[in-house]
Amino acid sequence: MSFPDHASLEKALLECSLCHLRQSAIGPTSFNGSVDSPLAIVGEGPGGVEDEYGVPLVGPSGQLLDKALGSVGVTRDKIYTTNVIKCRPKNNRTPTVEEGRFCAEHWLDVELTFVKPKVIVALGSVALKYLMGPDARITRDRGKWFDTKYGVPAIATYHPAYLLRLIGKDLVKAKWEVFYDLKAAVEKCRELAPDRELESAEKPDLLSLYAARRVSRQQAGSAPR
Ligand code: SF4
Repeated sequence: MSFPDHASLEKALLECSLCHLRQSAIGPTSFNGSVDSPLAIVGEGPGGVEDEYGVPLVGPSGQLLDKALGSVGVTRDKIYTTNVIKCRPKNNRTPTVEEGRFCAEHWLDVELTFVKPKVIVALGSVALKYLMGPDARITRDRGKWFDTKYGVPAIATYHPAYLLRLIGKDLVKAKWEVFYDLKAAVEKCRELAPDRELESAEKPDLLSLYAARRVSRQQAGSAPR
């Protein structure tokens, strides 16, 4: 599929029903943030809150991501946030590699041709496996730079949903690892796009920004479940 611009792509994406994952979701989710940002964050797939609002990483995981990004001088309005998979799998299960590839080859790959980021952060195992390869392991490969098929350097870190399941020393260690991974991404971004701002004075309230989409999705109530 080809689209004249990112807005046309988003319109088609929000109407997608190309695979079985659409059956258990309210609808596909798209992206949030800036479509011409030098920094793109690629997560896994939507959870319950994301499915409600139609955008990625706005629920508890997104709030933790905001905190982590804040610690390295980044706000979400200045970066592009998206997911490998656009529809929430039934019972919030982890999507398979094949499901990820199918959706991403239709949508994520096209999105990134419009965004043209300088640096990509893969959040969690599903994103890492799509961007690096199916044999990648998040515990082994996070924090290391690798090349992507887009010709854009990428680095992986833990998905915030993983951090939310940790406690004690494991949580402290993982938080520091995420901090250093994000710091490395921001430093490379500043090196490759020195004139681009990554932080706004005010943190955006993403739930308010997408409240209207949430209402329209509720009203449509059209999802075959
Ligand atoms: S998961 Fe992706 S390919 Fe499948 S229906 Fe949703 S948007 Fe379309």
